[in-house]
Amino acid sequence: MADLKRADDTILSVRNLTKRFPIKSGLLKRTVGAVHAVEDVSFDVHRGETFSIVGESGCGKSTTGKCVLRLIEPTSGSVTLDGQDFLALSGNELTRARHKMTLIFQDPYSSLNPRMTVSDIIGEPIDIAGTYPTKAERDARVEEVMEAVGLDLAFKNRYPHEFSGGQRQRIGIARAIVLAPEIVICDEPVSALDVSVQAKVINLLQELQESMGLSYIFISHDLSVVKHISDTVMVMYLGHEMELASKEELYANPLHPYTKALLEVVPRIRTERIQDKRILEGDVPSPTHPPTGCVFHSRCPHATERCAAEVPQSVEVTPGHFCSCHLYA
Ligand code: SF4
Repeated sequence: MADLKRADDTILSVRNLTKRFPIKSGLLKRTVGAVHAVEDVSFDVHRGETFSIVGESGCGKSTTGKCVLRLIEPTSGSVTLDGQDFLALSGNELTRARHKMTLIFQDPYSSLNPRMTVSDIIGEPIDIAGTYPTKAERDARVEEVMEAVGLDLAFKNRYPHEFSGGQRQRIGIARAIVLAPEIVICDEPVSALDVSVQAKVINLLQELQESMGLSYIFISHDLSVVKHISDTVMVMYLGHEMELASKEELYANPLHPYTKALLEVVPRIRTERIQDKRILEGDVPSPTHPPTGCVFHSRCPHATERCAAEVPQSVEVTPGHFCSCHLYA
């Protein structure tokens, strides 16, 4: 993949990221195959931007986020954070670098420890990192962050079950930003919430981005939400990058047959420029035995013999607009 625009303000560079989970079988637990979760994915995230990864369930977007954070170790590839080789770090260096990159979980109901108070949940990363030498300073930081996410300080000593879904996600966000990170990976942060609450949480994320200069990796299956919040969008299918462009360009001029199919089934963002009206047919193939060539060929209305034989490379079709499809090679 060619270097993307604005290389000077790149905060995170991911190159050729691959994650294959071995499949073991038999008494000796021999490796008999692999789940191809993420294959050769490359992208840059710039300071202050929201970089979204979008695709159907099981397309590898969450695994990509977890590999970037090293919650799961990638099989191969590189992750460069603020100029540092993140995958080579260990010990204290890794701990310090991890303060720069945090995660907001999908499900606020299960991601908070039910036995901890709000203050302890939010303050725990501080306690582990030891960034504030006195309890008074630690408590002051917890209160500062609670106010920033719109939580009443009177709730400090309450427990997660006493809150609504939206408030719990605010607690999760407060915990994620308490160490003043540079990048927050938001993994489907609003998909478990009511639609009315979703907008409030999205607005909060945008306010925090503005006030703290945060960069987001926003992982979602919801093209409407992604359209609202993103600067740049990468579309994934079966672990592969299909298309990458600025939000405006991707929604106005989608190139990849998969992106067009995704947009076609979202009536609110249907655009007249999409000529191909065929609906995406069939299920996503198994990542254990992904199709040869272009992984989308078993569902693509434009597939040719070449598509089944040859993996399409990511090509910069117009400046900053990348597409992995033989139609544009
Ligand atoms: Fe469809 Fe072929 Fe393009 Fe893949 S490479 S999206 S199968 S036309």
